[in-house]
Amino acid sequence: MILKITGNCKINTYYVQTLCMIFFPETKFAEDEEMTDVTPVLELDVNEMAESVKVKAQVSVGEDFCWHEETVAFDKDHDRERTIKIAIGGAVIKAAGALLNYQPAWGILIGVRPAKVASELLSKLGSRDEVVRTLVKDYYMVAKKAALATDVALTEAALIKQPSIKDCSIYVHIPFCPHRCAYCSFVAYPSTKFLSLIPDYLLKLVDEIEDISRTVKKYGLNVRTIYIGGGTPTILTAQQLNFLLGKIDSCFDVGAVEEYTLESGRPDTITAEKLAVAKAHGVTRISVNPQSLYDSVLKRIGRNHTVKDFYEAYDIAVASGIKYINTDIIAGLPGDSFPMFAKTVDKLIALRPHNITVHTFSVKKSADILKNGTSIYSVHGGDVGKCVDYSQIKVAKAGYIPYYMYRQKKTVGNMENVGFSLPGCECLYNVYMMEEIHSIFAAGAGAVSKLVDYRPTLESGDKTFIQRYCNHKYPYEYLSGGPVNNSSGAPVVNATLANQALIDEFFRSRL
Ligand code: SF4
Repeated sequence: MILKITGNCKINTYYVQTLCMIFFPETKFAEDEEMTDVTPVLELDVNEMAESVKVKAQVSVGEDFCWHEETVAFDKDHDRERTIKIAIGGAVIKAAGALLNYQPAWGILIGVRPAKVASELLSKLGSRDEVVRTLVKDYYMVAKKAALATDVALTEAALIKQPSIKDCSIYVHIPFCPHRCAYCSFVAYPSTKFLSLIPDYLLKLVDEIEDISRTVKKYGLNVRTIYIGGGTPTILTAQQLNFLLGKIDSCFDVGAVEEYTLESGRPDTITAEKLAVAKAHGVTRISVNPQSLYDSVLKRIGRNHTVKDFYEAYDIAVASGIKYINTDIIAGLPGDSFPMFAKTVDKLIALRPHNITVHTFSVKKSADILKNGTSIYSVHGGDVGKCVDYSQIKVAKAGYIPYYMYRQKKTVGNMENVGFSLPGCECLYNVYMMEEIHSIFAAGAGAVSKLVDYRPTLESGDKTFIQRYCNHKYPYEYLSGGPVNNSSGAPVVNATLANQALIDEFFRSRL
């Protein structure tokens, strides 16, 4: 795609490109791109005046073009920068939308966390209705998505209560899976090949968990949740799990945390013995993810387990006595259809899991499913909007509430991922992580830690402070050490140790 930007205003090109990708998801942006008959072109003229900003956007493909002009006044509800973004967003989506005959359900919101925008508006405007109206009017969202984001923000606000700088959560990453799903874009090492790394990985991991626990003790932090994620943590044997969870027991007061989650995901890794170990170590939440309740779909996405495997694993999870069970399904999977997806939703609801997360299919470049040239995306998304709507209506009727959500790029039909819960059974880690209300100390390959100073009041423009640091992405690098996020370039053991000075400065200046 070619962007031609004029006017008197410095604008965020990344924002404009991301808006364009709603309409042209496969597009690349290159200044020297050779024009063909199908090369999209956006001409944007942005002029900032004293009282308002005027934006003209023209989108063309070959001989076809549409344009729209948007003028938005600066007012006390938005800072100038945000007002300029709103005006650009409005002009671009109206011009491109008219050309492609498509109205993006999420309007000009391109971020991962739409509920955050609703939360900010709630703190300014107070009432749910007023926020929904503003999201529709200023952000061009369709009403049902505006209502969804606002409802999620309201549920989150009730769950968050009073965050403290001393609060934190612990994330432990297990980047191994029994088999790589065809749509996977994570670093998920299929363990048949990499199984031999797991014992060494665990030794290194527990060292890092100990490093984190020293920080927690040093600053008297409150660990609110512990989350073991992946990959597939239940790829570990019962003995390996016992070793890992035993170390976590010795490092933190597990009995005092609000929630302790062991993500299992793949039904083919769940056994009664492993869940007995988890229960004995205080795990309170587990996930068992069918993704679809059709074997033909599971086979198509290379999931390597059957619907029967899911039901058996679910029964084991119920029998384990672990308090909460999470489940995930995906709308828009290759080989699925609206009637099949609707049956998956209905059958899952019939099990009454505490949580149902409905993802929308999204595939990144590295996924195996794209290797044969299969194209997954379409702007309109076929039936995916209908599937997502159906899931939201049916789970609401069954008594579930939406409590966290996020969006990804390159999602079929530009739809969202939403977690639903029976009231009082929400997965708190999901909320704390999405809303970025306290620090997360993350251990393991690819783990990203966040030091968070949460400041929700935007009236003063005083925004939440977040400092991130990362571990090596791949298990091999994590095991061998080497420079990581470390200005000296000296070999280090892990990101927690490498960033100790940063962590110390963060807490010393705030406690
Ligand atoms: S279970 Fe999840 S992390 Fe593992 S391969 Fe499948 S999609 Fe990737």
